[in-house]
Amino acid sequence: MASEVTVRAALQSASRKLERAGIKDAARDARRLLEHVLCVDAATLIRDADEALSPSAQLRFKDLVDRRAEREPVSRILGVREFYGRPFLVTPDVLDPRPDTETLIDLALSIIRVERSATGPVSILDLGTGSGAILLTLLAECHGAKGTGTDVSVGALAVAARNAAALGMTDRVTLIEHDTRLSVPHGFDVVVANPPYIPTADICWLDPEVAAHDPHLALDGGPDGLDFYRLIVGHVVEARRVSRQPQWIIFEVGADQSDQVIDISHKNGIGSQAEDIKTARDLAGHVRCVAARTRSPQG
Ligand code: GLN
Repeated sequence: MASEVTVRAALQSASRKLERAGIKDAARDARRLLEHVLCVDAATLIRDADEALSPSAQLRFKDLVDRRAEREPVSRILGVREFYGRPFLVTPDVLDPRPDTETLIDLALSIIRVERSATGPVSILDLGTGSGAILLTLLAECHGAKGTGTDVSVGALAVAARNAAALGMTDRVTLIEHDTRLSVPHGFDVVVANPPYIPTADICWLDPEVAAHDPHLALDGGPDGLDFYRLIVGHVVEARRVSRQPQWIIFEVGADQSDQVIDISHKNGIGSQAEDIKTARDLAGHVRCVAARTRSPQG
């Protein structure tokens, strides 16, 4: 028979186990897993610290802590990730949305607000939408905007569709199976993308949470990590020949890639004037986003 174990004791022993497994925020992760097992919020867990855990809760908690000790991310264990204050379903088909990517949301919103005042409701294209976290967040923050998300993965599109439905945005989103390497759909005011940008040979050196759990399709940016930036910028410049509106491309970039991505834009004839390039830093101080504006051939 399982002996009596309090919430506090269970958390302490789980934290020690996770620390030994090399997990940085061991105590926080242990709390989140136990909140999930008990279906309670953080405040309730603290309030009930001296309560006994039932034997079945102990077993379920142990199972989840063991998974975390094997370096499965909490978001994948729970199947949900909070992004920009909203919950998103995550499955093995999609990249786990990162806090760093919220930098892209802030930069895109600042650009969209200016564009919207000039031209009315904005149309947004998200290339490689994955869970839909970027596109759906932008739509949720910009009432009236419409969006299209593309992905080469049908599994990812199914997750994005479920997230769109859960957020009540099905009627504002179009999801299409599309390979960004081949072309970019035309006619959008703003194109956003968090493309795969890890150099192929570096994937095996990433944290196990990433290397063993994110789809490599969503990570692998080719030999120098920049393949998708070259392809997307090239396609967008091509699309500009047939669509008229000024357009922003807003990228998430790897921690040391911003200069190279700006260079790729310049080489393709976009962002050559200072006001046509914007960048934003993540919380660690890295330039995490690069935005470049294409101009119509006349101006
Ligand atoms: N941000 C992810 C990482 O650093 C990579 C995501 C991507 O390649 N777009 O692991």
